[in-house]
Amino acid sequence: MYLHLADQHLHTDNSPDGSHSAILMCERAVELGLRAIAFTDHCEAPEYYDGYYEKALPQAYFDAVKAKSVFQGRLLVLIGVELGGAVYEEELCRRLLSQYSYDIVLSSLHFVKGAKEYHLIDYRQVDYRPVLEEYFKELLRQAKQNLFDSLAHLDYPTRYIRMQGVACSLKPFADLIDEILKVLVQNGKALEINTSGLSACFHTTLPGYDVIKRFRDLGGELVTVGSDAHCTASLGGGLEEGIALAHKAGFSYVTMFQRREPVLLKIE
Ligand SMILES: [Zn+2]
Ligand SMILES: [Zn+2]
Repeated sequence: MYLHLADQHLHTDNSPDGSHSAILMCERAVELGLRAIAFTDHCEAPEYYDGYYEKALPQAYFDAVKAKSVFQGRLLVLIGVELGGAVYEEELCRRLLSQYSYDIVLSSLHFVKGAKEYHLIDYRQVDYRPVLEEYFKELLRQAKQNLFDSLAHLDYPTRYIRMQGVACSLKPFADLIDEILKVLVQNGKALEINTSGLSACFHTTLPGYDVIKRFRDLGGELVTVGSDAHCTASLGGGLEEGIALAHKAGFSYVTMFQRREPVLLKIE
């Protein structure tokens, strides 16, 4: 078992798909002996004014603040957000990030504005290649926008493509992925190793080892590891495997973020 386990991607019942309160998630983290956890409830920027997120975002923030104070001395609680689709709402995102004192901001892209969410597409009917090409192009724009600390689940749509039993390769997108990784390197940002895929039928992290290794080879220094748990049962899931992959790819540290600054945790 590794000494420093810090789950950097977690959802509570302040996410539309989350099940448990911040307090229950903290209790589970203490049981598991984690050093730190980060609450990163969803904020889908393009849907912010539709009703849900405008209420949930402040609630998530204050619930995390409460949990942090309750668990002081037993567990380091980091307060974060998974900011989706920031590329479509730059001004709003800049305002939210100045309004709340987050420890960590994850960047994600769950859908291209105006198109279907990736988990709703039937990839047995729709060719995944143009879908992925558009995704990586938009993700590149969002990476360049630079409003985050760690880029979450870089190959997110492949989760749903593979879950539908459709084999998919990232090879045709190697240049685009390289461009994204280089932007992270240039801006000193982290790549997330999202371990949620380890318990799915395809059994790999998002992204997989090849992309993690490529990030390292391009000069990447920072990786965060997160279970992306939406309930207590999955909290911390796959963290050890995620850290082992980082180590194998040549990283000596994984990273957590405090007040938007990287804190390096030696892999030992
Ligand atoms: Zn996500
Ligand atoms: Zn998430």
